[in-house]
Amino acid sequence: MSFKKQENQMIEVCTRLLTEGEVDVVIGFSSDQLGGCAIPSFIRKPLDVKDLKWDDTCTPNLAKYVIERKEKVAIIAKPCDARALVMYQIENQIDRNHVYIIGMECPGMKLSDGTPAPGCQECTVRTPPIFDILIEADKIQTFEVSELSSNRENSKTSFVESSMEWELEDRLKRFQDEMQKCILCFSCRQACYGCYCKTCFIERDVPNWLPQDLDISTKMMFHLGRAMHLAGRCVECGACERVCPSGVKIRYLIQELTDLCHEQYGYRAGMDMNETPAMATFSLGDREIGFLGGDQNES
Ligand code: SF4
Ligand code: SF4
Repeated sequence: MSFKKQENQMIEVCTRLLTEGEVDVVIGFSSDQLGGCAIPSFIRKPLDVKDLKWDDTCTPNLAKYVIERKEKVAIIAKPCDARALVMYQIENQIDRNHVYIIGMECPGMKLSDGTPAPGCQECTVRTPPIFDILIEADKIQTFEVSELSSNRENSKTSFVESSMEWELEDRLKRFQDEMQKCILCFSCRQACYGCYCKTCFIERDVPNWLPQDLDISTKMMFHLGRAMHLAGRCVECGACERVCPSGVKIRYLIQELTDLCHEQYGYRAGMDMNETPAMATFSLGDREIGFLGGDQNES
């Protein structure tokens, strides 16, 4: 099985890196001991490398653990982790000389019940766009078509199905229905590589963005604010949806912006180190198009 072969190679590489002192810590995955999905793991001694695992439950995006780390790290990077690392480098959040990227070709991860993990369902990136060493899979087997219940081309019930064609009240209802479930625990923000501000806008008290009454408008403000901050930066890892304790499916909103950026500017976050992010550049000829309104230059 391809995973086992990749795991053996990964262990070999990590043992060498730690033994030769090339890195101080390896950030990877290990078993959660309860039979659930793999959990993040920090390995500092060559003898402990055997605890690392690589299988189809390695769902967490590990990139965030690299930020502000002073020591030299090696990180096990799926394509979505690697895309986040590309963004960190572009956004000056990491010193690339201190980060050794062990890229893993990835067929898509699964949840503990065997269903495709959010983000993996519609992912088309199987090889990390950046790595120092690539551990290839023998044969990348993606999910069967029947499993792709959310494939954006094939499914009418897809969470990424664009709601832009819907009537305004239907769009609002969809958004409000998801908001009713949200308990504002902020797990989605904590799991997202892209949310690394020391003080999130929602926690600033001048003005007070987070009032005492946690009504639906507060939740809408948080999620709309987060969506705007992630516009053109989402690496489509699905972490926000996977960690939500309330089953809120709000990723479609950010996905709308991701698709819009791709359609309008041909830009997908984290795919190319040398590409300037769509929202970090402009030209005077840009059309003022956005999800809040129509094309401002139409008339
Ligand atoms: S993780 Fe879920 S419940 Fe928590 S703030 Fe995010 S959407 Fe709301
Ligand atoms: S918004 Fe969600 S899918 Fe996008 S990068 Fe953040 S956690 Fe991943």
